Amino acid sequence: MLNSELLIIGGGAAGMAAALAASRSGRRTLLVERAPYLGGVLPQCLHHGFGLRYFQQDLTGAEYARRFAGQLAAAPVQLLLNTTALAVSRERIALLSNEQGLQQVAFRRLILASGCREIPLGALPIAGTRPAGVFTAGQAQQMLNLYGDDIGDRIIVLGSGDIGLIMARQFHLLGKQVLAIVEQRPQLSGLPEHQRQCCEQCRIPCLTSATVCEIHGRRRIEAVTLRHLDSGAEERIACSTLVLAAGLRPERELVAPLLDGGAYPAWLQLAGNCEHVHKIVDTVTLQGEQAARALL
Ligand SMILES: Cc1cc2nc3c(=O)[nH]c(=O)nc-3n(C[C@H](O)[C@H](O)[C@H](O)COP(=O)(O)OP(=O)(O)OC[C@H]3O[C@@H](n4cnc5c(N)ncnc54)[C@H](O)[C@@H]3O)c2cc1C
Repeated sequence: MLNSELLIIGGGAAGMAAALAASRSGRRTLLVERAPYLGGVLPQCLHHGFGLRYFQQDLTGAEYARRFAGQLAAAPVQLLLNTTALAVSRERIALLSNEQGLQQVAFRRLILASGCREIPLGALPIAGTRPAGVFTAGQAQQMLNLYGDDIGDRIIVLGSGDIGLIMARQFHLLGKQVLAIVEQRPQLSGLPEHQRQCCEQCRIPCLTSATVCEIHGRRRIEAVTLRHLDSGAEERIACSTLVLAAGLRPERELVAPLLDGGAYPAWLQLAGNCEHVHKIVDTVTLQGEQAARALL
């Protein structure tokens, strides 16, 4: 069985910041990350807008991640990549899974930094078929920016939060046709700066008080039915891709069994998007550092 004073689950911005803060206090720290790389969502974010508060510099997500990953490589932190934490018990034992099989780790303190989940198609009230060509925004971003895969050329984006707007702009800059950003509220929900970039600079049509209510197509998506919520009128729009940017949910199922009377044990801290969904990465980093200091 492995042994660690501090176990950190998740190697995104929050987990990396927590591990660096803990290493400065000389505690034996183990960081486990499911992916083969550190950074969480950051390496797939090739746009600028990261680190303005923490570094007073305008970095891409990938650059922001590299700053922390570089420091971690030189810090006394044990790192297990390609490793998923499957369970955590009240007895302070975590069950890990990687290509060596199952492994237990006994720990004294735990920081959960597991990020958040995108709301998938199955959780949305959208009827019709389930063909290829429907992606969450994060999936589309990963496919384009990390793996160089294509997602199709005639795209509808559902949801106008910052992630929907940023991705719509990237699709446009890649030469794809963004047919519409569809938002059920009467106004767009992302930051004014992102709204300006999408609607004014890239001239992407933004349809508010509207939603996608049905998907058409057998193998590949061929069209969606759009419903205008004020009038109830529906129209069919041909497309090759539907990108869902319908919201994020903190990912903390792993520690749900530890809840007692609505509180977690004193040896556990949550940091980053698994605690609440942060607007910017800088506050995620600060919360990761704070979680390590609070525990140690
Ligand atoms: C498209 C997009 C655009 C953004 N734009 C900006 C921007 O312009 N400016 C800005 O400041 N911020 C931006 N953000 C927000 C910022 O990137 C995130 O808030 C921040 O990176 C989240 O960090 P995190 O560590 O909480 O979560 P994540 O980055 O999600 O990291 C969580 C990590 O935990 C791992 N994990 C989860 N469960 C387990 C498990 N059981 N076992 C092992 N590992 C596990 C995951 O693999 C992941 O690596 C953007 C985010 C996105 C998605």
